[in-house]
Amino acid sequence: MSRSVAVVGAGLAGVATAYELAALGLRVQVFERGGSVAEQASFASSALLSPFVPGLAEAGAPAPLGLRLRRWRAGRTGGDAPATLAALSHLSLARTAALRRELGLDDEAAEGLLVALADAKRAAAAEAALPGWQALGLQVELIEAGEARRREPGLNPDAPLSAALALGQGGAGNARLFAQQLRLQAQRLGAEFRFHTTVRAIAAEGAGLALQHEYTPPAEAPTRGVERDAGDTLPQPAGPQQERFDAVVLCNGLEAAALAGQRLRLAARHEAAVTAPLRLLEAHPDLGPKGGWVDPSRGLTVARSGQRVRVTGGLAVTDARAKATPDFEALHRGLQHWFPGSVLHQQVQQGLSRRAVPADGLPLLGAAARPGLWLNLSPGGQGWGLACGSAQLLAQQVAGQAPALDITALGPQRLA
Ligand SMILES: Cc1cc2nc3c(=O)[nH]c(=O)nc-3n(C[C@H](O)[C@H](O)[C@H](O)COP(=O)(O)OP(=O)(O)OC[C@H]3O[C@@H](n4cnc5c(N)ncnc54)[C@H](O)[C@@H]3O)c2cc1C
Repeated sequence: MSRSVAVVGAGLAGVATAYELAALGLRVQVFERGGSVAEQASFASSALLSPFVPGLAEAGAPAPLGLRLRRWRAGRTGGDAPATLAALSHLSLARTAALRRELGLDDEAAEGLLVALADAKRAAAAEAALPGWQALGLQVELIEAGEARRREPGLNPDAPLSAALALGQGGAGNARLFAQQLRLQAQRLGAEFRFHTTVRAIAAEGAGLALQHEYTPPAEAPTRGVERDAGDTLPQPAGPQQERFDAVVLCNGLEAAALAGQRLRLAARHEAAVTAPLRLLEAHPDLGPKGGWVDPSRGLTVARSGQRVRVTGGLAVTDARAKATPDFEALHRGLQHWFPGSVLHQQVQQGLSRRAVPADGLPLLGAAARPGLWLNLSPGGQGWGLACGSAQLLAQQVAGQAPALDITALGPQRLA
């Protein structure tokens, strides 16, 4: 009989992992506390499908000194981690494109991802960084402001722009829609999903792991003994349950530390998001972004998601429990600066979300200290961009195969 694997968390990481494990013929059960897939960090995504480009994310919004020091130390000891991450990013975006194509996933994909270099100083710094990025095999191109405006004709002609970086393989889309469709494909391959089910503990049991889980009713509904609204998912009895699995993969972001049985040193990165309907005017067909637009100087991103525009930013990094105060006004100002008049101000949605960031800013991908336990935790803003490749490589390892890329440098043992 094939090996049984539990996946904890049904965000982008968990859904992609479930799909890849099921595709390799393993028996997969996904446990998710919420009522559907991609309800937490994956719901909040800025909608960018972005390659990893070292130094780009921090360019406009530096992390606190403590975090930068930890990253610097990690960078010194982590050796080839940036090269591994660049290769993983490339593999992952290629895997995402292949899944979209082969499975017919339609997540409102939009091509093109540009990074604004508002002044000559930033353009010069980017030009100096180019050889390093290219040495890592990254497809990064420095383009003139005129070319950037041609690719994004909705850009404000009065907003100063010196140049832009065009990130190859990058684009925008609807991460939640992607996760929902991939979930259906995973189910088609036999993976089972249990929603409103929280994993409470994981312990060694013989050669496998005992997973303790419990039905967790949605906060707004009275306790019930069976699952309420998750459609074709498994019914769940009330009270704590225990089940044995050959392996468990933790894909539950910030909360993985509570189940991992080892210290993971995760920080929380808070980000505000505003989503608004695109203004559709026949006389101005180019309103709004065509793809993804990143402004490191303001620390914000603007992306096209179907007929909507999504703006995210206002970043703060704290410890895993602290709260942050969102500055939605800054996002509205940023959108008005780059794409004026592009959205309707009715039906605007605003929200604040947090995502896990390992202390050194790299993914935690590989075998945990406890035998049979695996981690798939993506860093900061790269979660979607890395999800499909990370899931594929991890699934190969869980299935006992050699992964297509050596990802030892990203393994949790580096935190020991
Ligand atoms: C505002 C914002 C913008 C972002 N923008 C981008 C972007 O543009 N591009 C990009 O690539 N990435 C982006 N990211 C990052 C990306 O969204 C995340 O890295 C990615 O979604 C993380 O996915 P995940 O599956 O690891 O976590 P999540 O989506 O948070 O999923 C974890 C799941 O685990 C469940 N869970 C937790 N504990 C338990 C338990 N004990 N038992 C059962 N279930 C449990 C939770 O309910 C949750 O559904 C952004 C993140 C944020 C917050």
